[in-house]
Amino acid sequence: MESLFRCPVCSGALRWEDTGCLCGKGHRFDRARQGYVNLLLSGSAALHGDSAEMIRSRTAFLERGYYNRVREGIGELLLPLCPSGPVLDAGCGEGWYAAFLSPLLGGERLYGVDISREAVKAAARRKVYRELAVASAARLPVPDGALKGLLNIFSPPELGEYARVLAPGGILLRALPLEDHLWDLKAAIYEHPYRNPAPRMELEGFRLVETEDVTQVMTVTPGEDIRALFQMTPYQMKTSQRDRAKLLALDSLEVRLAIRLAAYRKE
Ligand SMILES: [Zn+2]
Repeated sequence: MESLFRCPVCSGALRWEDTGCLCGKGHRFDRARQGYVNLLLSGSAALHGDSAEMIRSRTAFLERGYYNRVREGIGELLLPLCPSGPVLDAGCGEGWYAAFLSPLLGGERLYGVDISREAVKAAARRKVYRELAVASAARLPVPDGALKGLLNIFSPPELGEYARVLAPGGILLRALPLEDHLWDLKAAIYEHPYRNPAPRMELEGFRLVETEDVTQVMTVTPGEDIRALFQMTPYQMKTSQRDRAKLLALDSLEVRLAIRLAAYRKE
């Protein structure tokens, strides 16, 4: 079977064989037991991206439904705009969004890449992607103009790559934190919390077609859920042990979710 993915060494077309992918020049990439392929060349995939523990914690949090409205909103925006053709989940994580979107999109048209091997392993277990690879979103193993849709859900954007791999008229769907997203969480731990910068909406080479803001106040269960939510944020990298301890001591947390979903059409 012909793969959507390209050889990371020579950019040649890849074919699936029994035990992996092979390009015309003989570069081979083994299929993991779970069904994905590792297309990172460095051989250090285990060092990149989210750890198994972070993924377990995030999956448990997401499965409890706190972000359901976000993925429903993504489906509502994407479906009417992107009626057919391959869609890439770039930075797919553990595939929680895809598990919801794949049956809506139909026709096995969802592909996924993530730089974290642990994330891709977890995503593979969901069996909702046509093909899954460990790969960097900064250098997508996808030919120019091959995609009709691309999802960038909270992962760091690689706009140049998105413009390269989307066909003209293809849809880029982004989820962006708004200024007061998770404000209450920050206010609970920091003396001087900062609001997020307003997202920049204009993107060169793309036309903004539609936006939808998802805002709601959620009551997060103390303990594990608060910790998991915090781990999903960029703040966790620069927070002291003392401030982390404050989080775990909270006996309740009402927190505002403020996310903008934005659909762009590639010009
Ligand atoms: Zn090759």
